[in-house]
Amino acid sequence: RRAREDLLKDQPAVTPDGHRVKVVANIGGVDDAVEAMTMGAEGVGLLRSEFVFMGRATAPTEADQAKVYADCAKALRRGDPLVIRTLDVGGDKPLTYLPIPKEENPFLGIRGVRVGLEQPEVLRTQLRAILAAADDGAELCVMFPMIATIADWRSAKRIFDEVRADSDVNAKVSVGIMMEVPSVAVMAKQFAAEEGCDFFSVGTNDLTSYTLAMDRGHPKLASQVDPCNPAVLTLIGNAAEALHERGKWLGVCGGVASDPQAVPILVGLGVDELSCSIPAIPSVKAAVRAYPLDMCTTLAERAIACSTPEEVRALVPQSDE
Ligand code: PEP
Ligand code: MG
Repeated sequence: RRAREDLLKDQPAVTPDGHRVKVVANIGGVDDAVEAMTMGAEGVGLLRSEFVFMGRATAPTEADQAKVYADCAKALRRGDPLVIRTLDVGGDKPLTYLPIPKEENPFLGIRGVRVGLEQPEVLRTQLRAILAAADDGAELCVMFPMIATIADWRSAKRIFDEVRADSDVNAKVSVGIMMEVPSVAVMAKQFAAEEGCDFFSVGTNDLTSYTLAMDRGHPKLASQVDPCNPAVLTLIGNAAEALHERGKWLGVCGGVASDPQAVPILVGLGVDELSCSIPAIPSVKAAVRAYPLDMCTTLAERAIACSTPEEVRALVPQSDE
């Protein structure tokens, strides 16, 4: 099976009845971008830009950042998407040189885009560095993590628009929302209607935690933090419907996108793009090729009617031939 998957890794992922799903990679930097392309990625669905900020004593300069973003763009083929997530720190990801006051509940505190909204110069610098890569071949997309309210989105988008207006970039740069907080999924219609919101990408790791109010790192709870929980799948399906009504697209960049068993359900829910870990790319593409779209749709309908994640997983046989 491995050998067959490897043989087809550079081919697009198309269901037997011709429905195409984009399979892209989650990366932390330039080396990953290069490796992802050798594994058959059709672009990058999540550049975790905090890797550019971590493990150093001082903040990276605009030029330091711009080099990383431009090199990632150049590692892709012309027109391949490069989704750059703005700095996602706070919660479980502290930075010594960017102090966030100690909080009682860091996962419910200043994390993700809230850091950039509190310290707009950090966000502005990053957006300038990202926009500098707009003419390097890849189709640049910017995504804001941990958006919870329309006000968050509008504030972040306003800063993006200001930075863009001051730049001399001509290329199209898409802007989207990382859907990790249930409020975005519940109000997907309103978020999808926001001007200039081009896409959502679902961060199922955090979305599952916040939906179940369980820490994904908790030793006693982690095993229950299953993105195949019907509550989470319902949220994803809801968002896909709202976005498609507006002609916009939905990706998944959380860990579930790398799970071949979940892939037909995600495709059936209307997910347009799967962004997975680099080693998972060939098997995720193979999973897309395994079921026709109408079967995926039926599986998804059954999945959201299930009562437990175990029931959901029992719907899709795990291929281990
Ligand atoms: C997620 O929450 O699913 C996600 C992709 O983001 P993180 O980097 O927090 O895993
Ligand atoms: Mg997250």
